Order: sequence, then C-alpha cells, then structure tokens
Amino acid sequence: MYVDSFSDGSNFYINRWIENVLGYGPYDVQKMGPRYLEQLVHADDKALMASERRKLLAINDGEVGENEYRFRHRQGNWRWLLCRETVFQRDGDGQPTQVFGTATDITKHKHAEVALKEFNAELERLARMDGLTQVANRRSFDEYLTQEWENIGSGRSSLSLILCDIDYFKSFNDTYGHQAGDVCLRQVAKAIEHAVKRSTDLVARYGGEEFAIILPNTNEAGVKQVAQEIQREIESLNIPHSESEVSNYITLSLGLASVSSTENAHPDILVACADQGLYQAKYYGRDRYCVGEIEHP
Ligand code: GH3
Ligand code: MG
Ligand code: MG
Repeated sequence: MYVDSFSDGSNFYINRWIENVLGYGPYDVQKMGPRYLEQLVHADDKALMASERRKLLAINDGEVGENEYRFRHRQGNWRWLLCRETVFQRDGDGQPTQVFGTATDITKHKHAEVALKEFNAELERLARMDGLTQVANRRSFDEYLTQEWENIGSGRSSLSLILCDIDYFKSFNDTYGHQAGDVCLRQVAKAIEHAVKRSTDLVARYGGEEFAIILPNTNEAGVKQVAQEIQREIESLNIPHSESEVSNYITLSLGLASVSSTENAHPDILVACADQGLYQAKYYGRDRYCVGEIEHP
C-alpha cells in the first residue's frame, strides 16, 4: 500500500512489504524523491504509467484505475506488479492532491502466461507441419490455397500449383524397407524446398509420397521453370532405386496448373487440373512434368 503526492509523484507512505518485492524499504523509497515510480518502472511502461496517473484527474471518488507494470528489483531483475490506484485526497477545487495505491506481485503469473503463449505458438506451428518431412501439412495447404485463390479474384495476377508424386515408390519401400522410404521422403521434401525460392511459395506434403507446391504470382512459364528446378534437385540427390522402371535413381512425376482468373470457380479446379497433368506425366512414361488443361465451368 502506498500514498503518493499527485503533483510531483513523491511518496508519503509505503508499507514494509515493498522490501520483499523490490528490495527497497520504505525509507529508501521516500529518499528517491519526486516521481520515484518512474525511476523504478521499466522504460517501456513509463508512458502507460504517466497516462494512468493523468486519468486520475477525471475519475470520481471510489473509482479505481488498474494496470500492470514491470519494476526493477534492487538486484536488477524485473518484477511484475498489478497497481490499483484511486484519488486519496483533493484540494478545495476538487483536484487530486494524493493518490492511494495497492500493488500486487504477479511476477509468477506473468512468467506462466509468457510460457503458455510460447507453448501455444509452438503447438500452432506443429499443427501446421507434417511430422515426418517438416514441410507444411495438408491443412496448411488447403488454407493457403483458399487464401491465395481469393487474392487473385480480380484477375490481375496468376497462381500456379505443382503436384509431385514419387515414381515407383511402393517398390522402393519393398526393396529398401519402409524406414529407408521415410528417409527418402525427407530428402525429397528438402530438395523441393531448395528448388522453390520465393518466401510466398508453399511446399506441403499432400499425401503419402505426394508433395504440392503453391506458387503465387507465377504464370505457366514460371511454373515450368520451377518444375525443371525441382527435377534438377531430385536428380542431384542420386538416391538409388534399382527397381524403378524409368531410372536407376529416384525420380518424380509432376503435374502443373496455372490460373489468372478465378471468377465463378473453386480452388479445387486448380488441384483437379494439376492432378490431370500428373496423370499424363505418369501415363507418358514418368520422370517428367505435364501441364494440365483447365476446364472452365
Ligand atoms: P507410381 O509411379 O505410379 O506413383 O507408383 P507408386 O508405387 O509410387 O505408387 P503407389 O500409389 O502404388 O504407392 C505409393 C506408396 O508410397 C505406397 C506406400 O508404401 C508409400 N508410402 C506412402 N506414404 C509413406 C510413408 O509415409 N513412408 C513410406 N516409407 N512410404 C510411404
Ligand atoms: Mg501416389
Ligand atoms: Mg508414386
């Protein structure tokens, strides 16, 4: 509990509890002189504290202003205090002359709150990621596609999609084992990420051994370049695949799709188009990319 001068912010009374929290006794606090709280409060909380004090000019008797501030302990560490203040005494014109306040130590609670926020942010991140390959999962893919689809509604931009599927991956697992298959999936994910340069591009695991890449502001010529870059990256991995019928190494088939207007259409049309491209790439011999044809509704 404390009583301060409203005009210069010096302390008239503070009880001994303050020594437990900030390391200063009542006598130390009174020696600090005018605006002693400003000397103790965190630089980032000073403006808030000053504006809260000004608010007391307008409050009625019995009303309380409440805020949380960081204060520096005598030994240098920071403590969070919840300060509740009211006008204690007024002059003949009704202007505040003294402030009465209580401070509650909420440091532990604040630290728990910060830890919880960090924990929730990490959970949020994990919920958007594929556990095996560490790229975005299907949920993020769906959300991002919907978002980017809405962005080009006006027809001033373009949006492309690539669906990749590893060739003869079942026989890779059968030959080298499921664990080697998992390692291969991780390497392929890394290689695709490497091939994709823009921060707005999203690489996601679309299904078992399928990856999808969303490429905003990318037209058909652009998406072909990215597909070629992905093929180069996969080739340079040199992952042996003796049972593949198209190569001695791991290869991908890719389906490409691009749109520049989304009016009256659903994002599924872009996925269907890339899927058609992928089907053709498989059909014409794998280890290649094909552009799907969009069928306008
Ligand atoms: P295609 O060239 O036609 O794509 O043939 P494929 O064998 O790759 O295709 P298919 O769809 O028949 O098989 C996909 C295989 O991918 C089946 C499964 O064993 C494997 N697979 C899917 N998810 C995982 C995974 O998380 N880990 C591993 N190791 N294998 C997976
Ligand atoms: Mg597949
Ligand atoms: Mg496959």
